[in-house]
Amino acid sequence: MIIRWFPVILIPYPAVRGGCAVCFGGFEILIIGLGGVFVALDLGFSEDEAIFRKNIHEFFERRVAPSWVSIDERGEIPVDLLKELGKSGLIAMLVSPEYGGPGSSMVSSTIALEEAGYADPSLATAVYLLVSTAWPYMVQLYGSEEAKSEILPKVASGEGFFGIASTEAQGGSDIAGFRTMRASRRKDGEWVITGEKSIVGGMVDVERLPWGGGWFLITRSGAVDDRHRSLTTFAFLAKKDGKKVDGYEYHIMEEVGRHGVKTGSIRLSDVAVDDRYRLGEVNGGFRVAMQGFNLARCLVGAASVGAARWALDRGLDWLKQRNMRDRPLASYQGVNFRFADLYAELDAARLLCYKAAWLADRYYFKKDPTVSVNDIAVASACAKLKAPEAAFQVFQEVMKWHGGMSFFKDLPFHRGLLGVLAYLVGAEGSQNVMRYLIARNIMGPDYVPP
Ligand SMILES: Cc1cc2nc3c(=O)[nH]c(=O)nc-3n(C[C@H](O)[C@H](O)[C@H](O)COP(=O)(O)OP(=O)(O)OC[C@H]3O[C@@H](n4cnc5c(N)ncnc54)[C@H](O)[C@@H]3O)c2cc1C
Repeated sequence: MIIRWFPVILIPYPAVRGGCAVCFGGFEILIIGLGGVFVALDLGFSEDEAIFRKNIHEFFERRVAPSWVSIDERGEIPVDLLKELGKSGLIAMLVSPEYGGPGSSMVSSTIALEEAGYADPSLATAVYLLVSTAWPYMVQLYGSEEAKSEILPKVASGEGFFGIASTEAQGGSDIAGFRTMRASRRKDGEWVITGEKSIVGGMVDVERLPWGGGWFLITRSGAVDDRHRSLTTFAFLAKKDGKKVDGYEYHIMEEVGRHGVKTGSIRLSDVAVDDRYRLGEVNGGFRVAMQGFNLARCLVGAASVGAARWALDRGLDWLKQRNMRDRPLASYQGVNFRFADLYAELDAARLLCYKAAWLADRYYFKKDPTVSVNDIAVASACAKLKAPEAAFQVFQEVMKWHGGMSFFKDLPFHRGLLGVLAYLVGAEGSQNVMRYLIARNIMGPDYVPP
Protein backbone atom coordinates (compact mmCIF):
# COMPACT_ATOMS: atom_id res chain seq x y z
CA MET A 1 0.00 0.00 0.00
CA ILE A 2 1.87 2.99 -1.19
CA ILE A 3 0.88 6.57 -1.43
CA ARG A 4 2.49 9.56 -3.03
CA TRP A 5 2.22 12.36 -0.54
CA PHE A 6 2.45 15.87 -1.85
CA PRO A 7 1.17 18.65 -3.82
CA VAL A 8 -1.61 16.28 -3.38
CA ILE A 9 -4.88 15.19 -4.87
CA LEU A 10 -6.96 12.80 -2.77
CA ILE A 11 -9.57 10.89 -4.73
CA PRO A 12 -11.95 8.25 -3.29
CA TYR A 13 -10.87 4.76 -4.28
CA PRO A 14 -11.99 2.91 -6.36
CA ALA A 15 -13.42 5.89 -8.20
CA VAL A 16 -10.14 6.21 -10.03
CA ARG A 17 -7.93 3.32 -11.05
CA GLY A 18 -4.26 3.13 -11.71
CA GLY A 19 -2.80 4.88 -8.65
CA CYS A 20 -1.81 3.45 -5.31
CA ALA A 21 -4.31 2.93 -2.54
CA VAL A 22 -3.86 3.26 1.16
CA CYS A 23 -6.19 2.08 3.89
CA PHE A 24 -6.11 4.66 6.60
CA GLY A 25 -8.57 5.34 9.37
CA GLY A 26 -11.16 3.14 7.74
CA PHE A 27 -11.02 4.89 4.35
CA GLU A 28 -9.35 3.74 1.24
CA ILE A 29 -8.01 6.65 -0.68
CA LEU A 30 -6.08 6.99 -3.84
CA ILE A 31 -3.34 9.49 -3.75
CA ILE A 32 -1.65 10.75 -6.86
CA GLY A 33 1.88 11.96 -6.55
CA LEU A 34 2.89 15.04 -8.45
CA GLY A 35 6.54 15.02 -7.44
CA GLY A 36 8.25 17.82 -5.54
CA VAL A 37 10.19 17.66 -2.32
CA PHE A 38 8.10 14.96 -0.66
CA VAL A 39 8.67 11.24 -1.07
CA ALA A 40 6.37 8.25 -1.37
CA LEU A 41 5.01 6.86 1.86
CA ASP A 42 3.54 3.58 2.99
CA LEU A 43 1.01 4.10 5.78
CA GLY A 44 0.05 0.52 6.52
CA PHE A 45 1.38 -2.01 9.03
CA SER A 46 1.91 -5.48 7.61
CA GLU A 47 0.06 -8.35 9.27
CA ASP A 48 3.25 -9.34 11.12
CA GLU A 49 3.79 -5.79 12.34
CA ALA A 50 0.18 -5.56 13.55
CA ILE A 51 0.59 -8.81 15.51
CA PHE A 52 3.93 -7.63 16.89
CA ARG A 53 2.31 -4.39 18.00
CA LYS A 54 -0.43 -6.22 19.89
CA ASN A 55 2.01 -8.66 21.53
CA ILE A 56 4.49 -5.98 22.47
CA HIS A 57 1.77 -3.80 23.96
CA GLU A 58 0.65 -6.71 26.16
CA PHE A 59 4.25 -7.51 27.14
CA PHE A 60 5.03 -3.93 28.18
CA GLU A 61 1.71 -3.59 30.01
CA ARG A 62 2.54 -6.73 31.99
CA ARG A 63 6.26 -6.20 32.63
CA VAL A 64 6.89 -2.44 32.57
CA ALA A 65 3.67 -0.50 33.20
CA PRO A 66 3.22 -1.72 36.81
CA SER A 67 6.71 -0.53 37.79
CA TRP A 68 7.28 2.67 35.77
CA VAL A 69 6.62 4.98 38.71
CA SER A 70 8.99 3.00 40.93
CA ILE A 71 11.62 3.05 38.13
CA ASP A 72 11.34 6.85 38.17
CA GLU A 73 11.38 7.06 41.98
CA ARG A 74 14.28 4.64 42.48
CA GLY A 75 16.24 6.03 39.55
CA GLU A 76 17.02 2.76 37.82
CA ILE A 77 15.55 0.08 35.63
CA PRO A 78 15.94 -3.28 37.43
CA VAL A 79 18.71 -5.42 35.94
CA ASP A 80 16.33 -8.40 35.78
CA LEU A 81 13.99 -6.37 33.63
CA LEU A 82 16.82 -5.35 31.31
CA LYS A 83 17.79 -8.99 30.88
CA GLU A 84 14.18 -9.89 30.17
CA LEU A 85 13.94 -7.10 27.61
CA GLY A 86 17.10 -8.50 26.03
CA LYS A 87 15.74 -12.06 25.97
CA SER A 88 12.55 -10.74 24.39
CA GLY A 89 14.48 -9.17 21.50
CA LEU A 90 13.82 -5.57 22.56
CA ILE A 91 17.41 -4.39 22.96
CA ALA A 92 19.65 -3.81 19.95
CA MET A 93 16.57 -4.45 17.86
CA LEU A 94 18.15 -3.73 14.49
CA VAL A 95 21.15 -5.98 15.12
CA SER A 96 21.04 -9.17 13.09
CA PRO A 97 20.76 -12.66 14.68
CA GLU A 98 24.36 -13.35 13.61
CA TYR A 99 25.43 -10.92 16.36
CA GLY A 100 22.79 -11.87 18.91
CA GLY A 101 20.08 -9.36 17.95
CA PRO A 102 16.54 -10.05 16.75
CA GLY A 103 17.13 -8.49 13.31
CA SER A 104 14.02 -6.30 13.50
CA SER A 105 13.10 -3.62 11.01
CA MET A 106 12.96 0.09 11.86
CA VAL A 107 9.18 0.04 11.61
CA SER A 108 9.01 -2.77 14.18
CA SER A 109 11.55 -0.98 16.39
CA THR A 110 9.42 2.17 16.15
CA ILE A 111 6.33 0.20 17.13
CA ALA A 112 8.24 -1.19 20.14
CA LEU A 113 9.43 2.28 21.17
CA GLU A 114 5.94 3.75 20.90
CA GLU A 115 4.65 0.98 23.17
CA ALA A 116 7.60 1.37 25.55
CA GLY A 117 6.69 5.07 25.89
CA TYR A 118 3.07 4.09 26.59
CA ALA A 119 4.09 1.67 29.33
CA ASP A 120 6.72 3.95 30.90
CA PRO A 121 5.79 7.56 30.12
CA SER A 122 8.76 8.86 32.11
CA LEU A 123 10.58 7.53 29.01
CA ALA A 124 13.41 5.89 30.95
CA THR A 125 12.71 2.40 29.55
CA ALA A 126 12.22 3.84 26.07
CA VAL A 127 15.48 5.79 26.27
CA TYR A 128 17.40 2.71 27.32
CA LEU A 129 15.89 0.76 24.43
CA LEU A 130 16.29 3.43 21.79
CA VAL A 131 19.92 4.29 22.38
CA SER A 132 20.72 0.61 22.48
CA THR A 133 18.89 0.11 19.20
CA ALA A 134 20.31 3.00 17.16
CA TRP A 135 23.96 2.99 18.26
CA PRO A 136 24.73 -0.76 18.27
CA TYR A 137 23.41 -0.80 14.72
CA MET A 138 26.17 1.64 13.79
CA VAL A 139 28.63 -0.89 15.27
CA GLN A 140 27.10 -3.56 13.05
CA LEU A 141 27.31 -1.33 9.96
CA TYR A 142 30.72 0.23 10.55
CA GLY A 143 32.58 -1.91 13.10
CA SER A 144 35.29 -4.51 12.63
CA GLU A 145 34.26 -8.16 12.81
CA GLU A 146 35.99 -8.50 16.21
CA ALA A 147 34.19 -5.47 17.66
CA LYS A 148 30.82 -6.66 16.39
CA SER A 149 31.26 -10.18 17.77
CA GLU A 150 32.52 -8.89 21.10
CA ILE A 151 30.03 -6.09 21.78
CA LEU A 152 26.73 -6.77 20.08
CA PRO A 153 25.70 -10.10 21.69
CA LYS A 154 26.40 -8.66 25.16
CA VAL A 155 24.31 -5.56 24.53
CA ALA A 156 21.48 -7.47 22.87
CA SER A 157 21.23 -9.88 25.81
CA GLY A 158 20.97 -7.03 28.35
CA GLU A 159 24.34 -7.86 29.95
CA GLY A 160 25.90 -4.64 28.67
CA PHE A 161 24.91 -1.10 27.75
CA PHE A 162 25.83 0.79 24.59
CA GLY A 163 24.81 4.44 24.22
CA ILE A 164 26.02 7.68 22.69
CA ALA A 165 28.77 10.01 23.94
CA SER A 166 28.58 13.04 21.69
CA THR A 167 27.86 16.26 23.62
CA GLU A 168 30.75 18.46 24.71
CA ALA A 169 30.70 21.23 27.26
CA GLN A 170 31.04 24.04 24.69
CA GLY A 171 27.77 22.90 23.05
CA GLY A 172 26.26 19.69 21.69
CA SER A 173 24.61 21.16 18.60
CA ASP A 174 27.72 21.96 16.58
CA ILE A 175 29.15 18.48 16.24
CA ALA A 176 31.51 19.58 13.45
CA GLY A 177 33.00 22.05 15.93
CA PHE A 178 33.79 19.51 18.67
CA ARG A 179 37.21 19.99 20.22
CA THR A 180 37.22 18.47 23.69
CA MET A 181 37.60 14.72 23.11
CA ARG A 182 40.79 14.13 21.15
CA ALA A 183 42.03 10.93 19.55
CA SER A 184 45.61 10.56 18.34
CA ARG A 185 47.06 7.59 16.59
CA ARG A 186 50.28 5.99 17.74
CA LYS A 187 52.80 4.35 15.43
CA ASP A 188 51.54 0.86 16.31
CA GLY A 189 48.06 1.81 15.06
CA GLU A 190 46.52 2.03 18.50
CA TRP A 191 44.66 5.20 19.51
CA VAL A 192 45.04 7.31 22.62
CA ILE A 193 41.94 9.23 23.62
CA THR A 194 41.77 12.10 26.10
CA GLY A 195 38.98 14.50 26.91
CA GLU A 196 35.54 14.94 28.31
CA LYS A 197 31.94 14.52 27.20
CA SER A 198 29.10 16.10 29.12
CA ILE A 199 25.44 15.05 29.39
CA VAL A 200 25.97 11.40 28.55
CA GLY A 201 23.46 8.76 29.64
CA GLY A 202 24.17 5.24 30.84
CA MET A 203 27.28 5.33 33.02
CA VAL A 204 25.45 3.73 35.92
CA ASP A 205 24.23 0.99 33.62
CA VAL A 206 27.77 0.37 32.38
CA GLU A 207 28.83 0.12 36.04
CA ARG A 208 26.10 -2.19 37.28
CA LEU A 209 25.61 -4.53 34.33
CA PRO A 210 27.76 -7.65 34.61
CA TRP A 211 29.60 -7.34 31.32
CA GLY A 212 29.81 -3.52 31.22
CA GLY A 213 29.61 -1.52 28.01
CA GLY A 214 30.26 1.97 26.73
CA TRP A 215 29.35 4.40 24.01
CA PHE A 216 29.53 5.38 20.39
CA LEU A 217 32.20 8.01 20.95
CA ILE A 218 32.79 11.01 18.66
CA THR A 219 36.39 12.25 18.78
CA ARG A 220 38.41 14.99 17.14
CA SER A 221 41.19 13.27 15.22
CA GLY A 222 42.62 16.26 13.33
CA ALA A 223 42.47 20.02 13.14
CA VAL A 224 39.31 21.68 14.52
CA ASP A 225 39.25 23.90 11.42
CA ASP A 226 38.63 20.80 9.31
CA ARG A 227 35.26 20.60 11.07
CA HIS A 228 33.29 17.49 10.02
CA ARG A 229 36.24 16.13 8.00
CA SER A 230 38.38 15.34 11.04
CA LEU A 231 36.08 13.46 13.37
CA THR A 232 36.65 9.77 14.04
CA THR A 233 34.14 7.57 15.85
CA PHE A 234 34.76 4.58 18.09
CA ALA A 235 32.92 1.93 20.02
CA PHE A 236 34.49 2.92 23.33
CA LEU A 237 34.14 0.32 26.07
CA ALA A 238 34.48 1.81 29.54
CA LYS A 239 34.08 -1.62 31.09
CA LYS A 240 34.15 -5.08 29.62
CA ASP A 241 34.09 -8.56 31.07
CA GLY A 242 33.34 -6.85 34.38
CA LYS A 243 36.56 -4.78 34.37
CA LYS A 244 36.74 -0.99 34.02
CA VAL A 245 39.41 0.45 31.71
CA ASP A 246 42.22 2.56 33.15
CA GLY A 247 41.85 6.30 32.66
CA TYR A 248 38.04 6.35 32.59
CA GLU A 249 36.04 8.33 35.17
CA TYR A 250 32.48 9.58 35.34
CA HIS A 251 30.42 12.06 37.27
CA ILE A 252 26.64 11.80 37.65
CA MET A 253 24.44 14.88 37.32
CA GLU A 254 21.11 15.17 39.08
CA GLU A 255 18.33 15.37 36.52
CA VAL A 256 14.86 16.91 37.07
CA GLY A 257 13.00 14.01 35.47
CA ARG A 258 13.35 10.68 33.65
CA HIS A 259 15.42 9.44 36.55
CA GLY A 260 15.56 5.80 35.42
CA VAL A 261 18.58 6.35 33.15
CA LYS A 262 21.28 8.34 34.89
CA THR A 263 23.14 11.00 32.95
CA GLY A 264 26.40 12.85 33.63
CA SER A 265 29.87 13.49 32.24
CA ILE A 266 32.65 11.09 31.31
CA ARG A 267 36.35 11.83 31.32
CA LEU A 268 39.06 9.84 29.51
CA SER A 269 42.71 10.40 30.39
CA ASP A 270 45.11 8.84 27.87
CA VAL A 271 42.89 5.83 27.35
CA ALA A 272 44.34 3.34 24.87
CA VAL A 273 41.79 2.16 22.31
CA ASP A 274 42.64 -0.51 19.77
CA ASP A 275 41.97 0.33 16.13
CA ARG A 276 39.52 -2.57 15.92
CA TYR A 277 37.04 -0.40 17.85
CA ARG A 278 37.07 2.34 15.23
CA LEU A 279 33.71 2.80 13.49
CA GLY A 280 34.03 3.93 9.88
CA GLU A 281 36.94 5.64 8.21
CA VAL A 282 39.60 7.67 10.00
CA ASN A 283 38.26 11.26 9.94
CA GLY A 284 35.02 9.93 8.46
CA GLY A 285 33.05 9.67 11.69
CA PHE A 286 30.66 12.55 11.06
CA ARG A 287 28.74 10.61 8.44
CA VAL A 288 28.47 7.59 10.71
CA ALA A 289 27.28 9.67 13.66
CA MET A 290 24.59 11.41 11.59
CA GLN A 291 23.16 8.04 10.59
CA GLY A 292 22.94 6.96 14.23
CA PHE A 293 21.18 10.20 15.14
CA ASN A 294 18.72 9.76 12.28
CA LEU A 295 17.58 6.42 13.69
CA ALA A 296 17.61 7.57 17.31
CA ARG A 297 15.50 10.66 16.52
CA CYS A 298 12.80 8.64 14.82
CA LEU A 299 12.66 6.33 17.86
CA VAL A 300 12.62 9.29 20.28
CA GLY A 301 9.64 10.65 18.39
CA ALA A 302 7.81 7.34 18.69
CA ALA A 303 8.54 7.07 22.42
CA SER A 304 7.21 10.61 22.98
CA VAL A 305 4.06 9.78 21.01
CA GLY A 306 3.55 6.63 23.09
CA ALA A 307 3.92 8.55 26.35
CA ALA A 308 1.46 11.18 25.16
CA ARG A 309 -1.02 8.55 24.01
CA TRP A 310 -0.92 7.15 27.53
CA ALA A 311 -1.66 10.61 28.96
CA LEU A 312 -4.37 11.38 26.42
CA ASP A 313 -6.14 8.07 27.14
CA ARG A 314 -6.20 8.93 30.83
CA GLY A 315 -7.22 12.49 30.07
CA LEU A 316 -10.14 11.26 28.01
CA ASP A 317 -11.35 8.92 30.79
CA TRP A 318 -11.16 11.82 33.21
CA LEU A 319 -13.04 14.23 30.94
CA LYS A 320 -15.86 11.72 30.58
CA GLN A 321 -16.22 11.02 34.28
CA ARG A 322 -15.54 14.43 35.86
CA ASN A 323 -18.73 16.46 36.14
CA MET A 324 -18.80 20.21 36.14
CA ARG A 325 -22.14 21.86 36.69
CA ASP A 326 -23.91 18.52 36.29
CA ARG A 327 -22.36 17.54 32.99
CA PRO A 328 -19.12 15.89 32.02
CA LEU A 329 -16.11 18.09 31.32
CA ALA A 330 -15.91 16.34 27.94
CA SER A 331 -19.19 17.98 26.93
CA TYR A 332 -17.73 21.51 27.06
CA GLN A 333 -16.61 22.68 23.65
CA GLY A 334 -13.64 24.59 25.15
CA VAL A 335 -12.40 21.20 26.33
CA ASN A 336 -13.42 18.83 23.55
CA PHE A 337 -12.09 21.11 20.79
CA ARG A 338 -8.76 21.23 22.61
CA PHE A 339 -8.85 17.45 22.86
CA ALA A 340 -9.45 17.27 19.11
CA ASP A 341 -6.51 19.59 18.38
CA LEU A 342 -4.19 17.51 20.53
CA TYR A 343 -5.41 14.27 19.00
CA ALA A 344 -4.71 15.64 15.51
CA GLU A 345 -1.27 16.97 16.46
CA LEU A 346 -0.29 13.68 18.02
CA ASP A 347 -1.54 11.61 15.12
CA ALA A 348 0.38 13.81 12.67
CA ALA A 349 3.55 13.44 14.75
CA ARG A 350 3.03 9.70 14.90
CA LEU A 351 2.83 9.44 11.11
CA LEU A 352 6.07 11.41 10.80
CA CYS A 353 7.81 8.85 13.02
CA TYR A 354 6.59 5.91 10.96
CA LYS A 355 7.48 7.70 7.75
CA ALA A 356 11.07 8.09 8.97
CA ALA A 357 11.16 4.43 10.04
CA TRP A 358 9.76 3.25 6.76
CA LEU A 359 12.34 5.26 4.80
CA ALA A 360 15.12 3.83 6.97
CA ASP A 361 13.92 0.30 6.24
CA ARG A 362 13.90 1.01 2.53
CA TYR A 363 17.43 2.39 2.70
CA TYR A 364 19.10 -0.08 5.07
CA PHE A 365 17.22 -3.31 4.47
CA LYS A 366 15.56 -3.08 1.06
CA LYS A 367 18.51 -1.19 -0.45
CA ASP A 368 16.10 1.05 -2.34
CA PRO A 369 18.29 3.34 -4.49
CA THR A 370 15.60 6.03 -4.53
CA VAL A 371 16.02 6.66 -0.79
CA SER A 372 19.07 8.51 0.55
CA VAL A 373 20.48 9.13 4.02
CA ASN A 374 19.39 12.74 3.58
CA ASP A 375 15.77 11.64 3.08
CA ILE A 376 15.97 9.80 6.40
CA ALA A 377 17.67 12.80 8.04
CA VAL A 378 14.83 15.12 7.01
CA ALA A 379 12.08 12.68 7.96
CA SER A 380 13.58 11.88 11.36
CA ALA A 381 14.25 15.58 12.05
CA CYS A 382 10.55 16.24 11.28
CA ALA A 383 9.57 13.44 13.68
CA LYS A 384 11.88 14.72 16.43
CA LEU A 385 10.73 18.32 15.87
CA LYS A 386 7.02 17.52 16.08
CA ALA A 387 6.56 14.52 18.37
CA PRO A 388 8.04 15.82 21.65
CA GLU A 389 6.32 19.19 21.07
CA ALA A 390 2.95 17.52 20.57
CA ALA A 391 3.57 15.21 23.53
CA PHE A 392 4.52 18.10 25.82
CA GLN A 393 1.30 19.92 24.86
CA VAL A 394 -0.69 16.80 25.65
CA PHE A 395 0.87 16.41 29.10
CA GLN A 396 0.30 20.07 29.93
CA GLU A 397 -3.34 19.92 28.93
CA VAL A 398 -4.05 16.60 30.63
CA MET A 399 -2.58 18.05 33.83
CA LYS A 400 -4.82 21.11 33.50
CA TRP A 401 -7.87 18.88 32.94
CA HIS A 402 -7.03 17.13 36.22
CA GLY A 403 -6.87 20.49 38.00
CA GLY A 404 -4.76 21.23 41.09
CA MET A 405 -4.29 17.58 42.02
CA SER A 406 -1.98 17.12 39.06
CA PHE A 407 0.62 19.25 40.82
CA PHE A 408 1.01 16.63 43.53
CA LYS A 409 2.90 13.38 43.36
CA ASP A 410 -0.23 11.29 43.95
CA LEU A 411 -0.83 11.70 40.21
CA PRO A 412 2.02 10.65 37.89
CA PHE A 413 1.56 13.04 34.95
CA HIS A 414 4.46 15.32 35.90
CA ARG A 415 6.82 12.38 35.39
CA GLY A 416 5.75 12.10 31.77
CA LEU A 417 5.87 15.86 31.28
CA LEU A 418 9.48 15.95 32.48
CA GLY A 419 10.43 12.89 30.46
CA VAL A 420 9.20 14.53 27.27
CA LEU A 421 10.79 17.84 28.26
CA ALA A 422 14.21 16.18 27.95
CA TYR A 423 13.60 16.04 24.20
CA LEU A 424 12.54 19.66 23.93
CA VAL A 425 15.63 21.00 25.67
CA GLY A 426 18.18 18.93 23.81
CA ALA A 427 18.31 15.15 24.17
CA GLU A 428 19.07 13.57 20.74
CA GLY A 429 19.61 17.06 19.30
CA SER A 430 18.00 20.40 19.98
CA GLN A 431 14.84 21.50 18.19
CA ASN A 432 16.63 24.27 16.28
CA VAL A 433 19.08 21.70 14.98
CA MET A 434 16.09 19.75 13.61
CA ARG A 435 14.90 22.94 11.90
CA TYR A 436 18.40 23.50 10.54
CA LEU A 437 18.59 19.95 9.13
CA ILE A 438 15.23 20.24 7.40
CA ALA A 439 15.92 23.70 5.99
CA ARG A 440 19.44 22.85 4.80
CA ASN A 441 18.40 19.62 3.09
CA ILE A 442 15.28 21.01 1.46
CA MET A 443 16.40 24.57 0.64
CA GLY A 444 20.03 23.71 -0.02
CA PRO A 445 23.37 24.82 1.41
CA ASP A 446 23.40 28.03 -0.66
CA TYR A 447 20.52 29.33 1.43
CA VAL A 448 21.27 27.53 4.70
CA PRO A 449 25.04 27.52 5.26
CA PRO A 450 26.65 25.49 8.07
C1 LIG B 1 18.06 14.25 29.45
C2 LIG B 1 19.16 14.40 28.45
C3 LIG B 1 19.91 13.30 28.11
C4 LIG B 1 20.96 13.43 27.21
N1 LIG B 1 21.71 12.32 26.91
C5 LIG B 1 22.76 12.45 26.08
C6 LIG B 1 23.58 11.32 25.79
O1 LIG B 1 23.32 10.18 26.22
N2 LIG B 1 24.67 11.51 25.02
C7 LIG B 1 24.99 12.72 24.49
O2 LIG B 1 25.99 12.83 23.80
N3 LIG B 1 24.23 13.81 24.75
C8 LIG B 1 23.12 13.70 25.52
N4 LIG B 1 22.36 14.80 25.81
C9 LIG B 1 22.79 16.11 25.32
C10 LIG B 1 22.09 16.58 24.05
O3 LIG B 1 22.55 15.86 22.94
C11 LIG B 1 22.38 18.09 23.94
O4 LIG B 1 21.64 18.73 24.96
C12 LIG B 1 22.03 18.67 22.57
O5 LIG B 1 22.83 18.15 21.54
C13 LIG B 1 22.15 20.19 22.58
O6 LIG B 1 23.40 20.59 23.02
P1 LIG B 1 23.55 21.63 24.23
O7 LIG B 1 22.65 21.18 25.33
O8 LIG B 1 24.98 21.75 24.54
O9 LIG B 1 22.95 22.97 23.68
P2 LIG B 1 23.71 24.02 22.65
O10 LIG B 1 24.31 23.25 21.52
O11 LIG B 1 24.59 24.86 23.47
O12 LIG B 1 22.48 24.82 22.15
C14 LIG B 1 21.86 25.83 22.95
C15 LIG B 1 20.69 26.43 22.22
O13 LIG B 1 21.13 26.96 20.97
C16 LIG B 1 20.29 26.54 19.94
N5 LIG B 1 21.03 26.43 18.68
C17 LIG B 1 22.10 25.64 18.43
N6 LIG B 1 22.50 25.82 17.16
C18 LIG B 1 21.66 26.71 16.59
C19 LIG B 1 21.54 27.30 15.29
N7 LIG B 1 22.39 26.97 14.31
N8 LIG B 1 20.55 28.19 15.08
C20 LIG B 1 19.70 28.53 16.06
N9 LIG B 1 19.76 28.02 17.30
C21 LIG B 1 20.73 27.12 17.57
C22 LIG B 1 19.79 25.18 20.40
O14 LIG B 1 18.56 24.85 19.77
C23 LIG B 1 19.63 25.41 21.88
O15 LIG B 1 18.35 25.95 22.12
C24 LIG B 1 21.27 14.69 26.66
C25 LIG B 1 20.48 15.80 26.98
C26 LIG B 1 19.44 15.67 27.85
C27 LIG B 1 18.61 16.86 28.19
